[in-house]
Amino acid sequence: MFIGILVFLVGMCIGSFLNVCIYRIPQEKSVVSPPSSCPGCGEKLKAIDLIPVLSFILLKGKCRNCNARISLQYPLVELLTGILWLFVYMRYGLTIETLALLYLFSVLIPVAFIDLAHFIIPNGLVLAGLLGGIPLYFYHLTVRPVVFYRSNNWYAPLLGMVSASGILFIVALIGLLIYGNDGAMGMGDVKIFLPIGLFLGWKLALVTLLLSIFIAGIVCIFLLLFRIVERKSTIPFGPFIVLGTIIIGLFNDLLFRYY
Ligand SMILES: [Zn+2]
Repeated sequence: MFIGILVFLVGMCIGSFLNVCIYRIPQEKSVVSPPSSCPGCGEKLKAIDLIPVLSFILLKGKCRNCNARISLQYPLVELLTGILWLFVYMRYGLTIETLALLYLFSVLIPVAFIDLAHFIIPNGLVLAGLLGGIPLYFYHLTVRPVVFYRSNNWYAPLLGMVSASGILFIVALIGLLIYGNDGAMGMGDVKIFLPIGLFLGWKLALVTLLLSIFIAGIVCIFLLLFRIVERKSTIPFGPFIVLGTIIIGLFNDLLFRYY
């Protein structure tokens, strides 16, 4: 119970940092300096303004200095990260699997929000994901098989890196040949499956790809049916990949229980 609350609170603080990433990475600014300031007036934020969720409520969603509105996305990302961290801990306890998913999800949350707003998946986040997957792979080689890999093979995570991203790469290539540049799916979607595959192994990576396509299809039909988007509008695939990864990461045992 105590550890659960701690994990939730630390998760919210990480969420606060992810907000900085979501805001600064598309502008190609450093995520570590300078300290956060109000985008409206440039006033540097005080420690009391940086408490996840609570500061937003205390400030009633406005800058202390200039009254500019603070986007609801900030407390939302903090809450989402805290809840996800808690779920991961509740599911896998104090294990390497928990550590791995906490890291992977924390990289994927900015991927989803940046892709949603800017239609890009920054290479820096792909790289950050890959770097975190390397120690997990070595743990698999030296200590015990990682649960996600569903295999004792040394190559399961390596195959994971190239399987789903390989399929997407071929799809992207075909799209490029048929439709030219505007019809093609983003290479970012191809690349983000490299770290996802390294963390989850080839079996879960492929299931994740299928689930992402399935959810994206349903959401697109819904959006078209209710005319929320036009037929020709672009819908980023990244957020669906992230959602699929979170679901498969947390609930993959349901798939393999009877397998
Ligand atoms: Zn301000």
